[in-house]
Amino acid sequence: MSEVTKTQVDRKARLKIPPPPVPKQDPKQRVKNWQEVYLGYDLPAARIEATRCIQCPAAPCQKACPLHNDIPGALLKLEEGDVMGAAEVFRATNPAPDMCGRLCPQESLCEGDCVVGKVAIPVAIGKLEAFIADQQQAAGRPIPELPTPTGKRVAVVGSGPAGLAVAEQLALRGHGVKVFEAWPRPGGVLRYGIPDFKMDKRHVDDQVEHLRRLGIQFVFNVRVGYDVTIDALFAEGFDAVFLGQGAGQGNRLNVPGEELAGIHMATEFLVRLNLPPEELPDHLREPLAIGKRVVVVGGGDTAMDCVRSAVRTGAEVVCAYRRTEAEMGGREEERRHAHEEGVRFHYLTAPIRFVADGGRVQAVRFQRMELGEPDESGRPKPVPVIGSEFEESADTVVIAIGYKVEKLLFQTTPGLEASEWGTVAADEGGQTSREGIFAAGDSVRGADLVVTALADAKRAAEAIDRYLREETAAA
Ligand code: SF4
Repeated sequence: MSEVTKTQVDRKARLKIPPPPVPKQDPKQRVKNWQEVYLGYDLPAARIEATRCIQCPAAPCQKACPLHNDIPGALLKLEEGDVMGAAEVFRATNPAPDMCGRLCPQESLCEGDCVVGKVAIPVAIGKLEAFIADQQQAAGRPIPELPTPTGKRVAVVGSGPAGLAVAEQLALRGHGVKVFEAWPRPGGVLRYGIPDFKMDKRHVDDQVEHLRRLGIQFVFNVRVGYDVTIDALFAEGFDAVFLGQGAGQGNRLNVPGEELAGIHMATEFLVRLNLPPEELPDHLREPLAIGKRVVVVGGGDTAMDCVRSAVRTGAEVVCAYRRTEAEMGGREEERRHAHEEGVRFHYLTAPIRFVADGGRVQAVRFQRMELGEPDESGRPKPVPVIGSEFEESADTVVIAIGYKVEKLLFQTTPGLEASEWGTVAADEGGQTSREGIFAAGDSVRGADLVVTALADAKRAAEAIDRYLREETAAA
């Protein structure tokens, strides 16, 4: 029984509680290391922050969360000091609360709809969720009792957020799960796309360790569709296949000189800076020679990951984006962090060619843009300004202008259809055009949030479970 009930809450008084600051590394300090920017709450501060939740019955934060976490319920437990109880509330709906607490764009999800935020600073839901999940992990995350094995086996392609979430949900339903990962270590974008200053990789390791304890198997350096086909997996005895390979192929600019040495796609750049060579495929193990000046082209969260990684090498960094800051797709917080860390921004600027010196990039030739009528994305179209060209010298250039789904699986899986956007065509539950093959997350949506991949993956796991049980009943 809760010590505090919703009806006892003095909402007016709660709105006056000053939010405790979230300890954070100073920009001058943090550009010299790769550790997480936020140091996190301690328990007294977390409990104070939790009491700022006014426990409103409508809980719009819960509706705005793609996983519909019971946020007021969890914060009520935290307020009372029941951290493990709070963790269970979050875990009931969220397979990765430590990650979501760090990576969700809360300002446009739960915190964006927080009623406290209408008159004061919204409750720091994400930071509290991360705090609670971290405390549970440190105390020893309980292993749930598993049901009697069903005898069914599912192959999960990819160990990113969708793959890990589907694997867990299926194991909890008694199915055997084997995860096939193309890279040498598990985690997909969580390990290979997100720098440590946003989320330490121990969170990926902790989750994988938990999944191993649930009996989930992992194999690495196996690219499904190339090293083994999906039909070969069925022939091997798998009853269903889940495609969670994500959208990992970087879009190209298609401007002259893009093939020069010193020009890198975002993922290649991020992994070679962020991970030790032994965690990379052979062709990416050579350390990067970055030089003194780095230009990153793009304006989303991946571009911010690239500029902030480049800053940590001691380079001078410029971010070039073809629209204005108002049209940038990523989080405002990420851009603020990049500004604080010394990144310069060129808005309304697009590269038109790369200038070489002995086969290596030496400069980027840019053209200024102005905003025109909205294009198919709904944002104003950048229109070149004639006679506005200029050059910015660069030892390294990074292209971070979005991702698409690789074509390989379509080419090697007869009957697997693509959507008009080139992603895997699948219904709400992840059923693809091929019986027994399911997909969810970025493989279906295109590059999107971790939390949406988790929500999609949970629905797909339910659909796979239904499919396997119907198969058993029909046998
Ligand atoms: Fe907010 Fe994301 Fe947590 Fe949902 S999962 S409560 S959106 S931080």
